[in-house]
Amino acid sequence: MKVLVVNCGSSSLKFRLIETDSREVIAKGLCERIGIDGGHFEYSPAGGSKLEKDIDLPNHDVAAKLVIDTLTDAEVGVVKSLDEIDAVGHRIVHGGDKFKHAAYLDDEAIKEIEACAALAPLHNPVNLIGIRACQKAMPGTANVAAFDTSFHQTLPEEAYLYGIPYEYYKNDKVRRYGFHGMSHEYVAAETAKELGKDIKDTKIITCHLGNGASITAVDGGKSVDTSMGFTPLDGIIMGTRCGSLDPEIINFLAGKYNMSISEVLDTLNKKSGLYGLSDYLSTDMRDLTDAYKAGDENAIRALKAYAYRIVKYVGAYATVLGGVDAITFTAGIGEHSFFIRKLICDGLGFLGVELDDTANNNCDILISTPASKIKVYAIPTDEEMSIALQTVEVLKNR
Ligand code: ADP
Repeated sequence: MKVLVVNCGSSSLKFRLIETDSREVIAKGLCERIGIDGGHFEYSPAGGSKLEKDIDLPNHDVAAKLVIDTLTDAEVGVVKSLDEIDAVGHRIVHGGDKFKHAAYLDDEAIKEIEACAALAPLHNPVNLIGIRACQKAMPGTANVAAFDTSFHQTLPEEAYLYGIPYEYYKNDKVRRYGFHGMSHEYVAAETAKELGKDIKDTKIITCHLGNGASITAVDGGKSVDTSMGFTPLDGIIMGTRCGSLDPEIINFLAGKYNMSISEVLDTLNKKSGLYGLSDYLSTDMRDLTDAYKAGDENAIRALKAYAYRIVKYVGAYATVLGGVDAITFTAGIGEHSFFIRKLICDGLGFLGVELDDTANNNCDILISTPASKIKVYAIPTDEEMSIALQTVEVLKNR
């Protein structure tokens, strides 16, 4: 099947056309600065040269039409007509507790996504704009939604409830949802393949370490706990997000610096994490690693705290799972930063983790020694492929 994967942000539309049988990317690209001056379009057909142009993109409808016109263009296109595209798979951030799997987008599903917008006011409405733009540009083509949250809908109650009055869960759905679900699901499946086991017989801890970052305990292919929570602010220390903290800190900072709650939250989302802890040295792991190696105390402090928090979560999830077959690192930092993987794995010796330094430095897939009690992998994530594969499943099961 050919699936067009669409990831819509407030001013961007990223797309990828995937042949799911061969897992081949036929074309990819993005529209940037939608609704802002200076619109920009990029398009790369497989095996062809990249096309770039500055073009006014007043809204997402215009952007979606440009994508479709380009994909079907006689000269640079990769399909003869829209009929060759079997479905559009949309990335939707929040599926609340309604969407336990990807879903076929009919009027009812769209209404449910609208209802979930209260939980992700910055993301779901924008995702819906993307859906409507594709419906207009490709009338008659099936649309499917894949959610960042749905993989974590298997969390047991004790893992998703916060220790607050139960009525806030019952009435307001305040609970842990977890995010990066497509990535955790995808790399857990790839890890099971590497282990040569049926995923049902595996216990895996997946560490998605990008700018945003989260860790998931995956038991038999099902997420049983995850570090992000009601929002992506919870959990481990990230590029600019603080991760878990004592909520009284919010009140304390608001009072001390005469800030509103949303101003404090802005600091916790955008000026904290590696950036804040390094005294605003950088959000970028490459800069911080260079500075650490040069003996910079701000970088050393930030990276030690970053690795420590991850070690703590992995230890907790090893206990939750009652054993671990594999720990898998993925996303920008997880896939590339052998320095951080080493820092983390040095803290996991008690679990029997033994890193193979050569394999780790080469960024091989398997980076633990044969003697290691837990296998350690660095596996590239592919969220778009995950969306495409989920889309196929939804269409197959209709
Ligand atoms: P997101 O998609 O959440 O924006 P990414 O998954 O692209 O983030 O990860 C971005 C992070 O990955 C940055 O901190 C960046 O420094 C880090 N990163 C990317 N490549 C490397 C590398 N070769 N070595 C170390 N860190 C890297």
